[in-house]
Amino acid sequence: MTTINTQRLTGDTSIANWLADPVGGPILRDMLAQGGQSADVFRPVRRLAIKRLVGMSKGAFSQETLDELVRRAAAGEVPAGVEAESVVDANDAAAASVRLREWKERIDAGRFTGQTVIVTGAGSGIGRATASRIAREGGRVIAVDISQERLDEFRAEHAGADVVPVVGDITDDASIAEIVSAAGDTVDALANIAGIMDDMTPVGDVTDAVWDRVFRINVTGTMKLMRAVIPTMLAQGGGSIVNTASEAALRGSAAGAAYTASKHAVAGLTKSSAFMYGPSGIRVNAVAPGPTITNIEANFASALGAERVRVGMSVMPDPVEPDALAASITFLLSDDGVNVNGVILASDGGWSAA
Ligand code: NAD
Repeated sequence: MTTINTQRLTGDTSIANWLADPVGGPILRDMLAQGGQSADVFRPVRRLAIKRLVGMSKGAFSQETLDELVRRAAAGEVPAGVEAESVVDANDAAAASVRLREWKERIDAGRFTGQTVIVTGAGSGIGRATASRIAREGGRVIAVDISQERLDEFRAEHAGADVVPVVGDITDDASIAEIVSAAGDTVDALANIAGIMDDMTPVGDVTDAVWDRVFRINVTGTMKLMRAVIPTMLAQGGGSIVNTASEAALRGSAAGAAYTASKHAVAGLTKSSAFMYGPSGIRVNAVAPGPTITNIEANFASALGAERVRVGMSVMPDPVEPDALAASITFLLSDDGVNVNGVILASDGGWSAA
């Protein structure tokens, strides 16, 4: 066993930086090799903090494994006979030879203090990360989700924050009324984030059931909540609305016909509203997320859809964590977005530039 000095590696260090490290890289590769695998398995997630593997791998990479890795790296326990350079897979050279800068969420204390912000889809993924960031930056969050269990969990994690959970379905008028009433007299901002995927079917195969459900939630639900908050925002002289589009609002190769058409509709709804209400002080923008690690479900019900979407995905960047989307969404929601109205902001690591 050789001992080499290294930068401190922890669970918060990205997988790429573990692999690039002269001590961490060999230890991690050795561990993978013992399980019959190479560092290639990490390619799609290499920018993530390594601790994320504990939740994502469903037991395959346990907390104990991570603790042991961190311990071995701190002790400089490079496996005997393994040289740092010799284990670098040529394909992984970019990630392995360059220590990538890691993004860390930086809380802007008080950015939402005194503001009431409605966030839909607050129980999971991008909505949850956005609701969390607003709550931690002092906002009063009306956290909306169809899942009581997910909202309970969210609330428990934000015990000291001003969170008002509303279990409801954004396609249902009674739920919309409940959300608006929970918000009260002022609605400073609305983040319409709840949404669902389709089954990747091209228009020749799409079922009425998939088409209707995807449009009902992604488009009609988004419209209903916008419509419900507009009178309050007009009366108070302004507000900020952020809708959630998708890469599928920018191109035809990211999903099936229903989801792609629904997200193009969200872009249209956003631009129409920005144009109509700009003079009244209401800003309406959308974020178009690229691949993000969440609980969203997508399946491939069509061989043609699977084959064609795979082509579009060949230039897709690595997926990111939902906090990275919350950073873009909260920028547009906040007063920092003061002069931005009617944009569809791609938050996709550059996918739309490909
Ligand atoms: P997610 O499934 O992790 O979270 C969505 C949440 O919305 C869930 O908690 C769900 O219970 C809730 N929800 C669903 N239908 C609802 C309804 N009718 N009423 C109230 N709540 C409802 O998904 P996510 O990936 O965080 O998706 C959030 C948004 O981002 C969606 O609009 C999605 O289309 C968009 N998006 C996601 C990705 C991605 O890669 N994850 C990429 C592009 C766009």
